[in-house]
Amino acid sequence: MRYAVISDIHANLEAFQAVLDDAGDIDRLWCLGDVIGYGPDPNDCTALLREYEHICVAGNHDLAGIGKADTYTFNSDAKRAIEWTTSVLGASAREYLARLPLVLTMDNRFTVVHGSPREPAWEYIVGVAEAKAAFHDTDTEVTLVGHTHVPMVFRELGAGAGVKGAPPAEDEAVQLNGRRLILNPGSVGQPRDGDERASYILLDLEQQVARYRRVPYRITKVQEKMQKAGLPERLIARLTYGR
Ligand code: ZN
Repeated sequence: MRYAVISDIHANLEAFQAVLDDAGDIDRLWCLGDVIGYGPDPNDCTALLREYEHICVAGNHDLAGIGKADTYTFNSDAKRAIEWTTSVLGASAREYLARLPLVLTMDNRFTVVHGSPREPAWEYIVGVAEAKAAFHDTDTEVTLVGHTHVPMVFRELGAGAGVKGAPPAEDEAVQLNGRRLILNPGSVGQPRDGDERASYILLDLEQQVARYRRVPYRITKVQEKMQKAGLPERLIARLTYGR
């Protein structure tokens, strides 16, 4: 089985399509949430996701976009973008997003969540402290998280030896070998690690590897659509820099 593990599409259709093209023949999409918010194509991204065999959990922007979560923690740009998103979101996308679960367990081996096991839609696993808590709160071998928009690999070392976290190298292939892992694929639609390319993971269960991928896409096309929609300048500019 080959899965594309994607997160934080954020209504960026060009980035999403580029990732799908790069992934090629896959059995399923595993989506870690935040399909909408920030970008100009929330309906089209939701529809495209639904064309594929897939699973998906809810992210904070998905919940906020359908009025199921408060936006008081959102900064003013994120708030403006989510208000715009809510105003254009169609009934079909709304109903779909409203049905998303917060956590999924796949193959008795993978925990799938947007933020963290203890606060599924909201907590950021940034460093070792949050990663340790997440290992404690799960019993699966691999936990897949998004939300930070920064690709990361956290490894549980031997008994009592703690947890190590590092960003993946370019095209890094992480071996799945029974050791416990937390993998963040980064963001499809709004990367924040200083690399503007869309980011995701190809999970190959025949070879037992999680392969990190970066994919260029037509950023200016997305930015033009954002301009037209009147989305905040700062959100438009950051796509150029991947910050
Ligand atoms: Zn996000």
